[in-house]
Amino acid sequence: MPKNRAFLYKLAPALAVFLLAAVVLWDLLPRQAARYTTTSFAMGSALNLTLYGGGEEEANAIIADVQALEEAISPNIAASYTAQINQNGAAETSEDYRKWVENAVDISRRTGGAFDITLGALSALWDIGGENQRVPAPKEIEAALQHTGSEYIEIQENQIAIPAGMRLDFGAIGKGMACDAAYAALTGTDVKSAVIASGGSVLLYGENPDGEGWTVGIQHPGKETGELIATLSLDAGFVSTSGNYQKYFIRDGRRYCHILDPATGYPAENGLTGVTVVARTGAESDALATACFVLGYEKSLSVLADFHAEAVFITEDGEIIPTEGLRDKLTIQE
Ligand code: AMP
Ligand code: MG
Repeated sequence: MPKNRAFLYKLAPALAVFLLAAVVLWDLLPRQAARYTTTSFAMGSALNLTLYGGGEEEANAIIADVQALEEAISPNIAASYTAQINQNGAAETSEDYRKWVENAVDISRRTGGAFDITLGALSALWDIGGENQRVPAPKEIEAALQHTGSEYIEIQENQIAIPAGMRLDFGAIGKGMACDAAYAALTGTDVKSAVIASGGSVLLYGENPDGEGWTVGIQHPGKETGELIATLSLDAGFVSTSGNYQKYFIRDGRRYCHILDPATGYPAENGLTGVTVVARTGAESDALATACFVLGYEKSLSVLADFHAEAVFITEDGEIIPTEGLRDKLTIQE
């Protein structure tokens, strides 16, 4: 036998063991799922999708479901249930829609009315961020407030009715609801991990494939978009931010932001510039971020506890105050 071949034969068992070990190891190694990202537009904001282990098909299904949600709840789409109710005072709706309204009314009640989907007439009057934004006369504000109050919504067997002059507005909860729709669309698919962001609301789905947990940035209220004041390390869940830097106008040196205090009819001013809420559903995180902005730090704490939600408050003085459950998850940017 030539010398070379004899050498190879001797080596064969070792080679076999090595190959087997490599195969076993390869199988055990956590494989990085392929990452697919795309951006769409819904709910008046960007809809950013990042999927691990899925692709275009799953992304399109999510986008379609969010668009269907928008077609049901947007007051600006003439055929939507919301537009019909706003125009005619009542409309026959889907069961899903009645559940969404029921949920919004429940959140209204549990936030002492700080979050209120019946502010449509008032928000149209201010039109903050719109073409007709202005400071309305006190009389106009008083009149618009006469047509608010979610306790006056009548949810009947097949339809929803509201008093004359009332207008429903899902602006403070819709993007969170889009995250809930994305969650439902992802459940049961091959996608194991995903991040879906609708405006200021984010769904963290599954585990971050890098094994480190998800990192969510909190926008610096006084700096350009993308510049962070802090980050949160989180597991799967829903996160929403409300802030007075997102939509506002300045008149005579005063800032008028798009979050209105239903008790006064004027933009909320509670010493805060932003609130980020982590909650069990997208709708709750979004509605509570708005409610906490209206309520201010102190009054928000019992409301958050009621929803098993956590929050980070950013004050006008630049203080960053997390609730208990987020203290060790918060990293303040230098
Ligand atoms: P968000 O950015 O989620 O805080 O929602 C703000 C939007 O919701 C505004 O542009 C209004 O359309 C509407 N809105 C403002 N104030 C409130 C409030 N207190 N409760 C419910 N909706 C509100
Ligand atoms: Mg909100």
